[in-house]
Amino acid sequence: MKLKRLEMTLERIAGFSRPRPALEQYQTPAPLAARLLFHALLKGDIEGRVVCDLGSGTGVLAIGAALLGAESVIGVDCDPKAVDIAHANAALLDAGVEFITGDVQDPALPEVLGSCDTVIMNPPFGAQKVHADRPFIDLAISIAPVTYSIFNAGSTQFIKTYTEGRAEIDERVGGVFPIKRTFSFHTQDIREIKVEILRLIRIQKPNRVA
Ligand code: SAH
Repeated sequence: MKLKRLEMTLERIAGFSRPRPALEQYQTPAPLAARLLFHALLKGDIEGRVVCDLGSGTGVLAIGAALLGAESVIGVDCDPKAVDIAHANAALLDAGVEFITGDVQDPALPEVLGSCDTVIMNPPFGAQKVHADRPFIDLAISIAPVTYSIFNAGSTQFIKTYTEGRAEIDERVGGVFPIKRTFSFHTQDIREIKVEILRLIRIQKPNRVA
């Protein structure tokens, strides 16, 4: 599937019916989602891979990964309503994705998810709850050797410091996230936020020799 075709397909995905500000429910716009997915595809991180989408929302990233030939895809979100919409979106686009309800802070979740090859995610940026992105990063690093995540532009240094000794940022791709007026505290009809897609590689711990 070509980039433009993927983008057009992902445009058909239904968004949050009543987005919840506390959960920072902003659907990734199709062009940005397609960009992240295509980049990961070209790096060999999607096709034939076991992929996990943390905070999958209405499913755009997970569904895109399935359409690009992932071996299996699981999406997890703490909002059961979003999970329902994601299921409907996957059915609409005939994408084989498993969506489950779960909180990234639940210590039992890693076992439920198992290990995977690639995590893709657009976590809350922490605008409502400081450091809301941290449990996403921690979980991603613990379940997958490679993670693609969208952050506010300028976050690289923070992420680098936060993941020190656990992961390395080996790529950064810039993008824009047009945010339409969604919540009452929004003052503009549309606002473009500069973002960056980071590729994080888990640092392999050397095996200890007894
Ligand atoms: N990945 C989707 C949604 C991004 S919005 C997309 O790209 O369009 C961020 C998502 O994270 C929301 O769907 C929100 O419900 C979810 N979320 C926020 N806190 C969470 C948590 N603690 N555990 C699981 N999901 C969470």
